[in-house]
Amino acid sequence: MGGLAVIEVVALDGDDTLWHSEQMFVDTQARFRDLLAPHVDLDHAALDARLLEVERRNLSTLGYGVKAFTLSLIETAIEVTEGRVLGRDVQAIVDLGKALLDHPVQLLDGVPEAVDALTGRYRVMIITKGDLLHQESKVARSGLAEDLWAVEIVSEKDAPTYERVLRRHRIDPASFVMVGNSVRSDVLPVLALGGRAVHVPYHVTWELEQPDHDPADGDFPVLAGLTHLPACLEAMGAEAA
Ligand SMILES: [Mg+2]
Repeated sequence: MGGLAVIEVVALDGDDTLWHSEQMFVDTQARFRDLLAPHVDLDHAALDARLLEVERRNLSTLGYGVKAFTLSLIETAIEVTEGRVLGRDVQAIVDLGKALLDHPVQLLDGVPEAVDALTGRYRVMIITKGDLLHQESKVARSGLAEDLWAVEIVSEKDAPTYERVLRRHRIDPASFVMVGNSVRSDVLPVLALGGRAVHVPYHVTWELEQPDHDPADGDFPVLAGLTHLPACLEAMGAEAA
């Protein structure tokens, strides 16, 4: 590879890396299906496919996060009922969205200990995408914020975005490691910039977070949890030295 420097900055993704997120969307989607079941003649898979189609269509306009998801649920309900969805059911969908926004932040196992170990050694930041207000509130409620060097909330996690964030903080990509659950958002764009990345998969991945192509084996470490991150970074740093 060549050109790798000592690791100085470690960036952590938020949703499904530090705290649970996707499972709550999955649970909400199940309640959405139950809500619509009396009104539409579609099985689970067909309704999920219709929702995914709407979410994909809305992504460039609405971006990521709960509010975009809620609007996509409403739009799907209108489409699959051919406009017959009742006002009270729309209200019930809005309430599902609000419950997601109000949900307590549940850290993944071992996160506080791992972050604590990292902040003693590296500059540690969060880079997360989604609704600004919701992400700010989750960072604050996580209890992790005060030990962090920086928090960046972005609307997309692609190579140009990472490049901007790194430039703004004067971070050399060769000394930067991104850690997250999404190969598409946390790993591939950072590798493309000459940085390093660690994949920590969550037990469920949103369809629109799947990478367009499978990455080559061995391009980046894959960990079972954040607990293993300090030792992994230690090994990566030793390799570069
Ligand atoms: Mg994530």
